[in-house]
Amino acid sequence: MAEGKLAGRVALVTGASRGIGRAIAARCAREGAAVAVNYITGPEPVQGKDNRADAEALVAEIRGAGGRATAVEADVSNGEQVQRVVSRVAEELGTVDVLVNNAGIETIIPFMEMTEEQYQRVLDVNLKGEWLCAQVVVRQLVAEHKPGAIVNIASIQSGMALPGRSHYAPSKRGVEALTRNLAAELAPHNIRVNCINPGLIATDMTDWVMKDEQILPIILDKIPLHRAGEPDEIAKVAVFLASDDASYVTGQCIYVDGGWVVT
Ligand code: NAP
Repeated sequence: MAEGKLAGRVALVTGASRGIGRAIAARCAREGAAVAVNYITGPEPVQGKDNRADAEALVAEIRGAGGRATAVEADVSNGEQVQRVVSRVAEELGTVDVLVNNAGIETIIPFMEMTEEQYQRVLDVNLKGEWLCAQVVVRQLVAEHKPGAIVNIASIQSGMALPGRSHYAPSKRGVEALTRNLAAELAPHNIRVNCINPGLIATDMTDWVMKDEQILPIILDKIPLHRAGEPDEIAKVAVFLASDDASYVTGQCIYVDGGWVVT
């Protein structure tokens, strides 16, 4: 039997082929969980990016360290794909009892230029995707009378007004509201639901910020710890919230942002 804060658990981490999701999946495995590494492949191959290969590489790494893992492809905004993945994980690893809703997309488009499709895609992935994954996982847990934990990833931007984020910011504000509503509704089933609001974390999503010599110092000046965070600094908090260490914590949104939110 594996040891660690998540020993005996089965974790599904969405958008886990890279970035914050990858770090969370890797840390869940280190803490003893069997891990389903969700990834998405686009309709067209993108040069220099292969989410399937990256997800399979992480699975090989976890197995190489003696853990259990599987790579599962799904677009989190597609109900049928989510259902298929959760059923497959149940067969391969066991019932998912830790869900980390991490998959997300951010585009920066001026409000007056944004199309309905561009708005809808961000809402579908960032908000509906978290709702869908939670519903499929929770239905199975409740049917089997099992407890569980859900960790949603929102963003510091849920309470900010940055240009070009009239889709992204509301989607993340919605994740906070979803967290609180599910926490209240699912508490009788012993399913806890919490949320993390990352600040500036160094991933592909923020690569352009990290390389922008004008914007980066302005942002760092607003962050009391005066640096970007690492994906693993989000992963450590996600494991805490998913584990029994947080057994009396539900409905909370925790900022992991170097103090940015207080400035
Ligand atoms: P990232 O490096 O872009 O990784 C996001 C992952 O999610 C990618 O692998 C992406 O796949 C996947 N994904 C996108 N749409 C998906 C879908 N429909 N179904 C399944 N997977 C999908 O971003 P990140 O920085 O790690 O961000 C992870 C989460 O943290 C996101 O929810 C983001 O909004 C949030 N966040 C990040 C920061 C930050 O500073 N990095 C700050 C606040 C909040 P593709 O490669 O195909 O897009």
